[in-house]
Amino acid sequence: MIVTPKIRGFICTTAHPEGCAAHVQEQIALVKRGGPVSHAPKKVLVIGSSTGYGLSSRIAAAFGGGAATAGVFFERPAEAGRCATAGWYNSAAFEREATKAGLYARSWNGDAFSDSLKAEVVAGIKADLGQVDCVIYSLASPRRNHPRNGQSYKSVLKPIGQSYTNKNLNTGNGEVNSVTLEPASDEEIENTVAVMGGEDWQMWMEALAQAGALAQGVQTVAYSYIGPELTWPIYKNGTIGRAKEDVERAQRALNQTLAPLGGKAWVSVNKALVTQASSAIPVVPLYISLLYKAMKDNHTHEDTIEQMDRLWRRLYSGTPIPTDAEGRIRLDDWEMDASIQEIVARRWQEVSTETLNQFGDFEGYQASFLRLFGFGLPGVDYAAETEVDQRVPSLP
Ligand code: NAD
Repeated sequence: MIVTPKIRGFICTTAHPEGCAAHVQEQIALVKRGGPVSHAPKKVLVIGSSTGYGLSSRIAAAFGGGAATAGVFFERPAEAGRCATAGWYNSAAFEREATKAGLYARSWNGDAFSDSLKAEVVAGIKADLGQVDCVIYSLASPRRNHPRNGQSYKSVLKPIGQSYTNKNLNTGNGEVNSVTLEPASDEEIENTVAVMGGEDWQMWMEALAQAGALAQGVQTVAYSYIGPELTWPIYKNGTIGRAKEDVERAQRALNQTLAPLGGKAWVSVNKALVTQASSAIPVVPLYISLLYKAMKDNHTHEDTIEQMDRLWRRLYSGTPIPTDAEGRIRLDDWEMDASIQEIVARRWQEVSTETLNQFGDFEGYQASFLRLFGFGLPGVDYAAETEVDQRVPSLP
């Protein structure tokens, strides 16, 4: 089958197997160029390991630290002439490369929020690895079926308290328009916290701890975002921000429960980047377009892999880990640099459809988006027939 991009709104419904593999290989090469990470953990579980920050975390752990990795994700294999999701092809490629490098890699495809998948993963870790010494929590999901109360929660991306109007980018045609978002109801806030908050991270750590699957000195990290004031009504002070506050609550609680093991829980505040999750947030794609331009001009632009490579080197260099006053790791330091934010804030006022290419990097935004689905990678023959039905080697 010849696979071409088919974009619907903010998702691409096709993915290119060789392109995804090339994207994974590029990330591996970048991590290898940095040389081995000195005190890296050797057995790592990544929850949400197939795309975005989670995939890059798994690559940094395996190819920067030489770790055996267990990965959990929710992806769709190819069926009846339809391609698989990008995360499926990424995971297939990751496992092939790990095996070539002599590294253990096993994956689980299913609902990470469920008790049954947690039990399966914990049993697999016990049988194959005994314990893990690092757990990365990188889920981004629009919904969660709660395993204990049976409720189904849906997250929303809305402001809290009052409506919010700001500039917005139609990522399909490059039009800069305006969007007004009505405030979330209490129920919507509660739903978003249930999906994207810290409870499920705690449930994973409890399941692992109860089974004795956490090694002495285990570290666990969940990801967050803060960003500049212009996005606060929709992010930091909005429904997703409430969920991220709950992730910080969970981090403090986990620090207590991990203390007897000499373990530590972290929240890492990462840079705003084009991923499947972030492209769905109103206002943010325009901000990212302006940010990419300012950071590329400043030679400080990074993608998920550079961020995760930096995280690994910070966490495992053997020296104290720098944090902000709230104890968070700040990988958004270059994004939040005052000179970058001053440029973005000024251009935000000026940008329009006509000036988007002058003030922003819409081309870069679109290219990054397509790369998530394996399109636009050098060396891939997109005109050639490709086998879409691929196996993730460790999956049945
Ligand atoms: P992403 O959409 O690329 O990845 C989400 C992952 O979660 C995928 O592996 C997917 O398969 C998995 N997943 C979703 N639902 C699942 C389920 N029910 N069961 C099992 N797996 C499931 O997202 P991302 O942008 O990399 O986000 C990861 C984390 O990083 C989130 O906490 C996000 O808030 C945070 N973050 C993102 C940005 C950004 O700009 N993208 C910035 C800072 C922090």
